[in-house]
Amino acid sequence: LRESDPIIENQITVCVRKRPLNDRENNKKEVDVITVHSKDKLIVHEPKHKVDLTKYLENQQFRFDYVFDETCTNLTVYKFTAKPLVKTIFEGGMATCFAYGQTGSGKTHTMGGEFRGKLQNFKNGIYGLVAKDVFKLLESPKYKQAFMVSASFFEIYGKLVFDLLCKKQRLRVLEDGKQIVQVVGLTEKVVTGVDDVLDLIQKGSNERTSGQTFANANSSRSHAVFQISLRKISCPSKLVGKFSLIDLAGNERGADTSKSNRQTRIEGADINKSLLALKECIRALGRKGSHCPFRGSKLTQVLRDSFIGERSRTCMIALISPGVTSCEHTLNTLRYADRVKEL
Ligand code: ADP
Ligand code: MG
Repeated sequence: LRESDPIIENQITVCVRKRPLNDRENNKKEVDVITVHSKDKLIVHEPKHKVDLTKYLENQQFRFDYVFDETCTNLTVYKFTAKPLVKTIFEGGMATCFAYGQTGSGKTHTMGGEFRGKLQNFKNGIYGLVAKDVFKLLESPKYKQAFMVSASFFEIYGKLVFDLLCKKQRLRVLEDGKQIVQVVGLTEKVVTGVDDVLDLIQKGSNERTSGQTFANANSSRSHAVFQISLRKISCPSKLVGKFSLIDLAGNERGADTSKSNRQTRIEGADINKSLLALKECIRALGRKGSHCPFRGSKLTQVLRDSFIGERSRTCMIALISPGVTSCEHTLNTLRYADRVKEL
C-alpha cells in the first residue's frame, strides 16, 4: 500500500485491518491464518476436517476497499479511512467511522490510540487524528476560522446511554414528531485546539474502562461514540456537520446468545440487534430511496442523522485477530463487512 494510491470517494468505504499475533498467542505458538494478499484482498486459511478426520485448510478470499496488514500503523489506516471524510463536515455533511470486530481485535487501539502497556497514546488514534485535521482545515484560508468546534463522548449499553464527559451520567434519547433525535443533556464541550480534544478523549476513555456504573458493563459490551461537531460562529444554533467515530461492542457478544446467564443473554441479544440494524442502515445509505430501520436500536437511533442525506459518508474498519483460535469470529466479521459493502 502506497500513500500515493488514489483515495476513492465512495459514500461507503469498507476496510479490514489485521493485527499482529500478540505475546499470549505467540507463547502458545498459535498459527496465523490470515494472508493479506494485496492492498484489497485477503485470504483466510480455515482448518477443517475431512470425513476421515484428516485435516486440511480451506482457503477463503475476501475483497474490500483496502486491507491493512499487521505492519500498518494507525496513521496509515487513518489516511485511507477517516481522513478523506474530514472535509465532508465542512461542506455540510455527516461523516461516520465505525470500528467493528471481536473483543481484542484492535478496535480501541485503532480508534483511541496505540497502547504501550496500559497507557494509550491518544495522539495516534483515529479520534485524535480527526481532531488534528479538523483544526488544520479550520485554519486554512478557505474556512478562515469561521466555525466553532465542539466534542462529545458517550457510551451505549443496551438501551441505556451514559455521558463519558460527565461522570457517566445517564442520558435520555428523545425523538420528536419530525424524527429529530436528541440525546438530552449530553455534554458538548467547545474545543479550541487539538490538545483540548485529546484531554477529553483521555477523560472519556478513562471513564469508560473504570468506575463502571451499571452491572459490570465493560468496554466490550458497549458502543462508544465520540463526536466532533462544527457550527458557524455567525449562527451557533445550527449544526453544519458532524463527525461520529464509533468503537463498537465486541461482535462475539452478539453472536453467542445461548449463554445461560440471563444478563449475558440480554446483553448479547441487544448487541446483536444493534449490529444488525447498523448493517441495514449503512446499506440503506448506499441505496437511494431505501428504508433505514434506525429505530431498530439505540445505536442507530442516535446516529440517525448520519444515515440520511446525499452528503453523508461512512467508513467501516473491520478489525481481525490473526490466530487460528479466532478463525470463526474472524469469518463472521469478514462476512458482516462484506454485506455492508455489497450494494
Ligand atoms: P478491542 O478494543 O477490539 O477489544 P484492543 O484495541 O483493546 O481490542 O486491542 C487488544 C490488544 O491488542 C491491545 O493490547 C492492543 O494494544 C493490541 N493491538 C491491537 N491492534 C494492534 C496492532 N495493530 N498492533 C499492535 N498491537 C495491537
Ligand atoms: Mg476495546
